[in-house]
Amino acid sequence: MVKKISILGSTGSIGLSTIELVLRHPGRFEVVGLAAGSNVAELEKQIQRLKPKVVSVGSEAAAKELRNRVGRNRVEIVHGTEGASQVAVLAEVDMVVSAIVGAAGLLPTLEAIRHGKTIGLANKESMVIAGELMRREASKKGVTILPVDSEHSALFQCLEGHRRADIKRLILTASGGPFLQRPREEFNQITVSQALKHPNWSMGQKITIDSATMMNKGLEVMEARWLFDLPVDKIDICVHPQSIVHSMVEYIDGSVMAQMGVPDMKVPIAYALSYPERIATGVPSLNLFEERKLTFFEPDFEKFTCLKTAYSAAREGKTCPAVLNAANEEAVAAFLAEKIKFTDIPRLIDKTIGAHQPFEVKSLDDVLEADRWARVTTKGFLP
Ligand code: NAD
Ligand code: MG
Repeated sequence: MVKKISILGSTGSIGLSTIELVLRHPGRFEVVGLAAGSNVAELEKQIQRLKPKVVSVGSEAAAKELRNRVGRNRVEIVHGTEGASQVAVLAEVDMVVSAIVGAAGLLPTLEAIRHGKTIGLANKESMVIAGELMRREASKKGVTILPVDSEHSALFQCLEGHRRADIKRLILTASGGPFLQRPREEFNQITVSQALKHPNWSMGQKITIDSATMMNKGLEVMEARWLFDLPVDKIDICVHPQSIVHSMVEYIDGSVMAQMGVPDMKVPIAYALSYPERIATGVPSLNLFEERKLTFFEPDFEKFTCLKTAYSAAREGKTCPAVLNAANEEAVAAFLAEKIKFTDIPRLIDKTIGAHQPFEVKSLDDVLEADRWARVTTKGFLP
């Protein structure tokens, strides 16, 4: 049977790889809905190739421009968060690939869950800020959330066929990003273009900066905490610069399962798309003789202080992860706009968290309120 999908964030790095896989398997998938921000030229191409029913863009202006390009009749064009949610809940859709970047992905993803859609989750920020809520809604509706993030896909695969009670710990691998070898004293000289050069993965700008500060790994600890419903203290980080081992699970008997492969996001995306089957991705075989050396190190929490901040927010819980995430999004945006230095990113996040009075997350409104507060506060700290 053809699997009908909606892709949220279709013009981004994950969105484009998802579409590449869909086109590689004609007859297996059908794209019914697309949602993205402002790249109408790319959306126009996607509409021509995929013939979706509904497409959502970020703003009314972008919707108007897209309508002019494609003509009104071929596709319904909507916009904004409501537009993205509309795409996520289309009646015929079986699966939603959630790949909008940042907290903007939360509402459409939650709507998709509430409408019983299977989720392929790339948008880790939604799990970080509203993990408990998403889990609760998913279990109410019997919804499966399949990880797209490579580490979480690896963990998911290493957990398959095993008993939860036998898990000792999860080990998330981290490349360490472009500044693994750079001395801490030189961090204040890091430029935007240096931070955007990731050694192993080609990704969107926000996650690339998160990898450079290692906040990405902190967010992934929180993502794993909710995806696999395990306490933070059972989730460790291991630096592995080659990015061949995508993550590991240690069991109580001392056995450690690892999932490996060439670092290419098409592999975890494909597994989410075709689960429980596997499909070809075009990704080359892992050449172990060429690779030869796989190395593993302890993370440096003093150099990459975002890791410390993230663990402490994860342990504290309540609104802390949402505040951390929003502060990080605002700080990263300011760094990309060259308004602040690289070293200001962790500083601003810590300052925002320091000013926060954490409260329990009982509803979506609590998450949105914490997110809003943190953005205003971080922006207030900007020069
Ligand atoms: P990206 O910046 O390349 O793409 C983001 C997409 O979201 C674009 O299509 C953009 O138009 C869309 N978008 C942004 N704001 C929007 C809004 N308000 N409404 C609707 N659409 C909006 O980012 P990416 O690298 O593809 O990452 C997407 C998500 O996947 C992030 O949460 C990231 O952490 C996660 N992820 C990415 C990778 C990767 O290799 N790129 C790996 C693991 C996880
Ligand atoms: Mg990852």
